[in-house]
Amino acid sequence: MAVRIDGRAPAAGGKNQAAAEAGRLHIGCHLSSSKGFAAMGRQALELGADTFQFFTRNPRGSRARGLDAADAAALAELMAEHRFAPVIAHAPYTLNLCGAEEKNREFARETMADDLRRLEHLPGQYYNFHPGSHVGQGVEAGIDLIARGLNAILTPDLHTTVLLETMAGKGSEVGGRFEELRAILDRVEVPDKMGVCLDTCHVSDAGYDIIGGLDGVLAEFDRIIGLDRLKAVHLNDSKNPLGSRRDRHACIGEGEIGLEALARVVRHPALRGLPFCLETPNELPGYKREIALMRRQAE
Ligand code: FE
Ligand code: FE
Ligand code: ZN
Repeated sequence: MAVRIDGRAPAAGGKNQAAAEAGRLHIGCHLSSSKGFAAMGRQALELGADTFQFFTRNPRGSRARGLDAADAAALAELMAEHRFAPVIAHAPYTLNLCGAEEKNREFARETMADDLRRLEHLPGQYYNFHPGSHVGQGVEAGIDLIARGLNAILTPDLHTTVLLETMAGKGSEVGGRFEELRAILDRVEVPDKMGVCLDTCHVSDAGYDIIGGLDGVLAEFDRIIGLDRLKAVHLNDSKNPLGSRRDRHACIGEGEIGLEALARVVRHPALRGLPFCLETPNELPGYKREIALMRRQAE
């Protein structure tokens, strides 16, 4: 009998079901955390999702609600039962580890450290953040401040993997080039706690041609960062063309990337098994349709 790499025997149904399970697309969407952890898990199931993303607190980065350990445990149980891929906790996008003023950098560090403490109640998930904007200090200074910020908050005993998101490169954003993400990773003292989340809208806006040359973009990612560092994908169409550096998400098939190119992303063997998360401008029924659409494309 085949033994899975996690050491568990295949589920009832035997080899075929185990194989189907291994090839299953893990997909979900961004959800509101206003009703708590377990409610997001139930919402995901209703949408046909087996992963999801949520903001750890409101975009301004204000105080998070008190954490309910029983609620986190209930989500962990639901995720195990329904074989979810890891979920993505997204940091407030207003945080800036490489802001020009120390008080802004300190606020980002303290907020992220608090988020990571809370996520210890839900071990094994991802914490995704936007590397930051260097606001005129230069890319090199930005990279240095981001790495120093991470070194101040990451600990070897962390049960969360922290993901740098690939950015569109708008304004003074750091992380629009794979080389910048690599430079940050190189300076982090506990690199095994770090990974990357590839956002399809952002990389296209940053000038990586995932429409005409997905294989080449992934080969470049592998050469510069390493595909073993890629832990999650944000699946978005873009309102703007290749290299526009704008960062405006579109619904799947309604933007410049298009359904065909995004279907190749979910089918790509190098990305198999990763959680794919929609951040398209949708309400829940739209997300449900896009999840079903991408599951059909992945077959
Ligand atoms: Fe993001
Ligand atoms: Fe994103
Ligand atoms: Zn975006």
